[in-house]
Parts: sequence; structure tokens; C-alpha cells
Amino acid sequence: MNDKSTHFGFETVAEADKARRVAGVFSSVAESYDVMNDLMSMGLHRLWKHFTIQVAGVRTGDRVLDVAGGTGDLSLAFAKKVGPKGAVWLTDINQAMLSRGRDRLVDHGYTLPVARCDAEKLPFPDGYFDCVTVAFGLRNMTHKDAALKEMARVLKPGGRLLVLEFSRVWAPLAPAYDFYSFKILPWLGDKVAKDADSYRYLAESIRMHPAQPELKTMMEEAGLARVDYFNLTGGVVALHRGYRI
Ligand code: SAM
Repeated sequence: MNDKSTHFGFETVAEADKARRVAGVFSSVAESYDVMNDLMSMGLHRLWKHFTIQVAGVRTGDRVLDVAGGTGDLSLAFAKKVGPKGAVWLTDINQAMLSRGRDRLVDHGYTLPVARCDAEKLPFPDGYFDCVTVAFGLRNMTHKDAALKEMARVLKPGGRLLVLEFSRVWAPLAPAYDFYSFKILPWLGDKVAKDADSYRYLAESIRMHPAQPELKTMMEEAGLARVDYFNLTGGVVALHRGYRI
């Protein structure tokens, strides 16, 4: 892979093509995204997100940024925590995902600020947020290092970044997990979302994403301190946490 190429699942593609292909995936799945999330994780994504919210320790009056927030699960939960004196920004690069997120928030009685933006170039000043989260988004970004630096930049000193992402599963679970990911997931994607390819990309992109210790190092290199992580469901998912000091 040369300087200008990157991964899109197991494929090597030009950097300029990755964002376009990722946009294609999320524009295609936006409508069935929430149903598919429940189905393919058997509801577990709700527990993983609940744990993230507990670890975030967000308080009344805090400013929170939900990067790659999609249909807004975390934004909604944080909005309930920060109250009217705080602020939660829902952001995503994809208009279809963002529109669904905004509509869902409104359905729940929240009109939060929403911004379409690339995590690699966040339109916020330095030191603005108490907490930044990115759930199942980092894996899709072309320059993960640049995105992590941006997320660190917009944190106040003492603020924390939480990265919830698929990760490296505990070895004894790997054969069953591989079977599920490469056989059942694309089949489910085909039947429910009429899109097997996007769910094949999901399985492949998980395998290409840095494992727990590598992501910890990347967060440290982005300027975050006291980085630690929690393995959830045998490492199917990991929650990384780091602080700006
Ligand atoms: N955070 C939500 C959740 O946990 O349900 C949505 C996660 S969804 C799997 C991944 C999201 O990342 C998509 O909405 C996609 O548009 C977004 N995304 C991908 N690349 C991005 C980037 N460079 N900047 C911001 N968002 C991005």
C-alpha cells in the first residue's frame, strides 16, 4: 500500500475513493440502520452504548460532541444527562444518516444542534467540549490519526474522548465470530436491507481496524493521556478512553 492508498474492507483503494465508498455504504443502509443494528448485534449494541454513557460521566451543563453520531443513539442519551444548561452536538459526514438522527431526536422531543462535518476537520474551536464520543465511526475514517487529533484538539483540558469500536475478539471465539460475520451478516443484510455488500464491508472493515493495544497507542500519539480500554463481549467491541491534559 503506497502513501495515497488505504483500505476499504479487504480492498486496497485510492485514499480519495475511500470516503466516497463509505458514503455509499451509509447512504444505502441509513433507512434500515437501526433495525439492522438490533438484529445483527442481537440488541447488544444497546448495552455497549449504555456502558459508554456510564463511563463518559457526563454531568448537567456539560458540552458533548457526538462524532459520526449517525442516527443519534448516544446524542439522545447524553441530551438527557446534560439538561437545558448543557449542549450535545450530533455530527456526521453523511446527510442520510444525519437526517435520520435529527428526526429521531425531534421525535423524542430534543432539538439538538446538528452539523454535517468530517471528523478529520471539525468545525469547533480548541478546548470547547467536556466530552467527545465516536461510536462505530472511527473504523470508517480515511485518516484515523488526523481524526483522533481533531477530537483531542476540541476537548477542554480534563475532557475525555471515548471511542467505542469493534475490536479484536478473544481467540477462542474467533471461528464462530468469523462464521457469523462472513456468512450470516451479509445474508441478513441482503434479506433486511437488500444490501449484502455493505454488511460484507462491515465484517471486513472490522478485521482491518487496529486491535486494542494499537488503538491505545494511536490515541496516545494523538495527544491523549491516561488511555485505557474495556473489552466488551469478549473483545467483539472495545471502549477506549483518553483524557486531554
Ligand atoms: N454512532 C452511530 C452509532 O453508533 O449507531 C453511527 C455509527 S455508523 C456505523 C458510522 C457512521 O460514521 C456513519 O454514520 C458514517 O456516515 C460516519 N462517518 C464515516 N466517516 C466519517 C467521517 N470521516 N467523519 C464523520 N463521520 C463519518
